[in-house]
Order: sequence, then structure tokens, then C-alpha cells
Amino acid sequence: MSLDPSSALDLLKSYDRPDGLAVTELMDSRQHGGLTYNDFLLLPGKVDFPASDVLTESRITRNVVLKTPFMSSPMDTVTETDMAIALALLGGIGVIHHNQPAENQAAMVRAVKRHENGFISDPVVLSPSHRVEDVLDIKARLGFCGIPITDNGAVGGKLVGIVTSRDVQFRDPSTPLSQVMISDLVTASQGITLLEANDILRDSKKGKLPIVDKNGNLVSLLARSDLLKNQSYPLASKNPETKQLYAAAAIGTRPLDRTRLDLLVEAGLDIVVIDSSQGNSVFQLDMIQHIKQKYPKLEVIAGNVVTREQAASLIAAGADGLRVGMGSGSICITQEVMAVGRPQATAVYAVAEFASKFGVPVIADGGISNVGHIVKALALGAGAVMMGGLLAGTEEAPGEYFYHEGKRVKAYRGMGSLEAMEQGKPGGTTSSKVNVTPQSGSSKYPAPKKAATLDNAATSRYFSESSAVKVAQGVSGDVQDKGSVKAFIPYLYTGLQHSFQDIGVKSVSELREGVHSKRVRFELRTASSQVEGGVHGLNSYTKRLFK
Ligand code: GDP
Ligand code: GDP
Ligand code: 5GP
Repeated sequence: MSLDPSSALDLLKSYDRPDGLAVTELMDSRQHGGLTYNDFLLLPGKVDFPASDVLTESRITRNVVLKTPFMSSPMDTVTETDMAIALALLGGIGVIHHNQPAENQAAMVRAVKRHENGFISDPVVLSPSHRVEDVLDIKARLGFCGIPITDNGAVGGKLVGIVTSRDVQFRDPSTPLSQVMISDLVTASQGITLLEANDILRDSKKGKLPIVDKNGNLVSLLARSDLLKNQSYPLASKNPETKQLYAAAAIGTRPLDRTRLDLLVEAGLDIVVIDSSQGNSVFQLDMIQHIKQKYPKLEVIAGNVVTREQAASLIAAGADGLRVGMGSGSICITQEVMAVGRPQATAVYAVAEFASKFGVPVIADGGISNVGHIVKALALGAGAVMMGGLLAGTEEAPGEYFYHEGKRVKAYRGMGSLEAMEQGKPGGTTSSKVNVTPQSGSSKYPAPKKAATLDNAATSRYFSESSAVKVAQGVSGDVQDKGSVKAFIPYLYTGLQHSFQDIGVKSVSELREGVHSKRVRFELRTASSQVEGGVHGLNSYTKRLFK
């Protein structure tokens, strides 16, 4: 005899536990081995809201919250200026790689910081005796040509005019700016709020609004194009006060990386990522200590780690965020060569569970190859995911497209591949032949006995760039064209919203709370269930991911 359907919900209560597994039970199943993202699924919850209600805001360091949990890897085939700007505009953040001279890396940080502004506190300024060619030169180097003119050619000088692109068009390059500048100016007074200044800018229909003090001296500048950027990119990752995009960059742990860091900070760096495949080293602990002492406001993401023990060292040293992953990257052969690493889902859970007790967010780095992996990383406690291969085929990644076996591709290589290590200038400022001075080690973190040897070997990410024999930990290959991140990231974002809707949570924090309280449930996947969950039984098919 069947039960009365109206008693279904009551019957449910009589079961001693909900369907599926709690995250702790899922992780305990690892008596049989660590888990990867493909080894499990989340069970569906109840849909009672539209997917568009889902917010993906998440914390990536102690003090930085992003509207989308997407980061790009500090790799020379993934993140330079274009990727960093595009990701920040779309609500994520790109970490600029350090396999290049420090000056180049700093110029990339500066370009990100200059891309969008509230008040531009250090605008480029010229004097009336400068020439049209000087403006054209600034346009070529920095990309803008709305230049305030002050009597002494500097901020703080008396504002006497402004030149814009139309004023210098068709002019002889040697013409002095005094002959082309506009002197009839709309200005605003120092002390005005950004909102009020934006209103004046809107009403004046001018491209720029110079801000002056009571003596008419130039203080700062506002650009109309920034209002448009703010409107077009509502999720952008920005410093709430300056409205500048957040900039992140990677460094190593060599002594010369301290000089590199100085240049990056001078360029406006917000977040530094200490790039090491095995983060639990005396070199990294020393570097964290150095940064915390010299630049207390800089957010430090340390790593990489995959165990609680590694994480504890870095948290104790002052890390504001941790990067998790060893050997899970798509280009990575660390697990094969070094026999060291950990399956990524287990690593993310183990580190996030521990680090969350200290308010230190965790970034799941490597092995992300679809939206589902991102959801799983977030469910296991990550504050964001870091992607290399998934973004390397986009227009904003460095390098040109080429054709390989009929497909349009871009090069993608591990930073521990021989190709990348040979190009690398570890820790250097301009020269590829860097003399590594042995580190003495502080008293808190005394250097091991063989400091010089260890220092040589241990301070670059893959620990072998300066050794006589180079042992590769990555491969070099190519990935298929993915179009622009301006279409791809919105696809990931919308995908996340739909997945969260299926799970029945409206935000990353609700997902985390649901997992913690065991309301959000998991299921292990057997090998055959993975086959079942993929496309199967078709003669042929096309896989288009978004439109
Ligand atoms: P919103 O209210 O969600 O747009 O929050 P925001 O912090 O982005 O903006 C708050 C105010 O600051 C709005 O009036 C924006 O127009 C202004 N604002 C935001 N970003 C910028 C920017 O990059 N430049 C300028 N000039 N104004 C900005
Ligand atoms: P312009 O008309 O050629 O000056 O260029 P736009 O106004 O279209 O764009 C200027 C962009 O560059 C804005 O996003 C500014 O915030 C940014 N920017 C950063 N630093 C400066 C600066 O020193 N001067 C100017 N004019 N713009 C700057
Ligand atoms: P992906 O997103 O392609 O799966 O992985 C990117 C991540 O792999 C990077 O963020 C970095 O942590 C890691 N990685 C980059 N290059 C190498 C390498 O040569 N060897 C190893 N083991 N990992 C790498």
C-alpha cells in the first residue's frame, strides 16, 4: 500500500540524515585517496529565486573583496596589461607575471592603475612652452592626450589652459601649446566630492574637469571617459576611494625581488603574490616578514600550499591570502617528476578549512577547466579560483594566434617549462645574468646550514632555474582560441549564477554556510558515473559553450 502523498515532507523528517554526503563525509571518503574536482558532485537544492539574483562577491585576501571570484595566473602566456585590465573591469583580477624585467612589470602595474580613476591626483601636466609634439608623444606612450597646462608645467602650478586631442590635430608638431590651448575653462574647487564633480562634468559636456585650489592652482583632474567606464563595467574591481582598478603582480623570493617589489609598489601595486610552487620555505617566510614590515598596507598572497601544516607557517608569518595547488595545473608535471603534490579538491578543502579559522581566504589555483570546477572550488571553501589554461586562448592573453592542425591557437606554457625558465630573468631588474647573493636568514627563520646552495636552488618558483641541470616541472603547448575575455568571463559568471540556483544558494557566503551546516550535500562519482555525466552514445557532436 502506498503512503498518502501529502505525508511526503513529514516522512522525510523521519530519516536520520539528509540524502547525499556532508562535506566532511565526502572528504573522509579519501581513505581511498585524495579527491579531484571530477570525483564528486553537489546535489541539487530548491530553486525559489531567479539565477540573476545570485551574487558572486567573494573575499580573496583579508581586505580585498571582488564581485567575481576569477583570477588569472601570473604566467607569461596569460597575464600582462591587457588581461589585468580586462579582468579587473569584469570584476576579477589578473596577476601580472614576473618572468620579465622589473621595470616592464612595473609599467604594466602602472597601466592598470591609470586605466580608470576618480580624481586623477597626479595627472600628466605640461606648460605653455611645451609643444604639440610633446602631447603627441604622451598620447603614443600613455594613450590619452587631455593635458592640463599650468604655468610651471607641474601639478600645483597655476592652471592656465588645457589641450585635448582636437587642439593638436593637424597642427605643426613644433607649435607651442600657448597657441593651441583652450583658456576658457570649466573647473571645480578643491574639496568637492566625487559625486558633485561628476555632476559638473556631466553638465559641462567637457571631456575633462580640472580641480583647482582657491588660488587657481591645479590639484587634480577628472575624465569624462571614466564615468562611461564605470557605467559599462558595474562589477569592476576598484579601490573604493580612488576608483582605480586593483593591480596585482607576482614576485619571487630572491633578494633582488625586494628591489622588484619597490618598483611595483611605486607603480601603485595593491596585491603581491609570492610565486613559489612550494610556499613553505624560509625564503618565503622571510619575504612575508620583509613586506609586512616595509609595506604594511600591501595585501600579500602567499603560497603555493596544499596542506594545513604548510598553511599554518604562512598564516603565522602574516599572509593575507593563500594560493592552493601543487601539480594540478594543466601544463604541470610536478606530481610526475617530483612525486609531490596533492589532488586539488582535497588540497583546497584541507587548506580552506584551516585558514578560514584565521579569516585568511584561499585561492584555488590550477586545474580549473570548466564552470563546474569553479563551483566546486568555491563549495570547498575557496574565495576565488586562479586560471591559466582556461584564459590563455583569449585575445587578452599575451602572444599572437597561429594555426596548429587546422585550429586557431595561442601558445600556453608552464612557468616551470624549460622554455619559460630559459627566457626567465629571475629576480632581476634588467639583466638575465643575475648574481644571487646568499641569504643569511633572520633569527626568527634561520637559514639552513647550506644557505647559499639552498638559496640558489630554492628561491625561484620551480627551484631549478639557477641549477646547473634544469629539471622541468611544466610543459609547453598551445590552447584553442576562446575569443575575448569580455565574452568569456560573463559566460563563467552567468554559469556560476545558474549553478548556484540549482544548488539553492544565492551567494558565495550562503554556499559556504550551507556546506558548513551540512545543508548543501555532495555525492561521490564512480568512474562509470563520470562517463555517464559526460556526453556519451553520440555518433558525433559539436560542443558550443555559450552564445
Ligand atoms: P555605484 O553607485 O554602484 O556605481 O558605485 P560606485 O562606487 O561604482 O560609484 C559611486 C559613485 O562614484 C558614482 O556616482 C559613480 O559615478 C562614481 N564613480 C565610480 N567609479 C568612478 C570612476 O572611475 N570615475 C569617476 N569619475 N567616478 C566614478
Ligand atoms: P583623452 O581624452 O585622450 O585624454 O583620453 P580619455 O579621456 O578618453 O581617457 C583618459 C583615461 O586615462 C581615463 O580613464 C583617465 O582616468 C586615464 N588617465 C590616467 N592618468 C591620466 C592622466 O594623467 N591624464 C589624463 N588625461 N587621463 C589619465
Ligand atoms: P591551469 O589553470 O592551466 O590548470 O593551471 C595554472 C596554474 O598552474 C598556475 O596558476 C600555476 O600555479 C601552475 N603552474 C604554472 N606553470 C607551471 C609549471 O610549469 N609547473 C607546475 N607544476 N605548475 C605550473
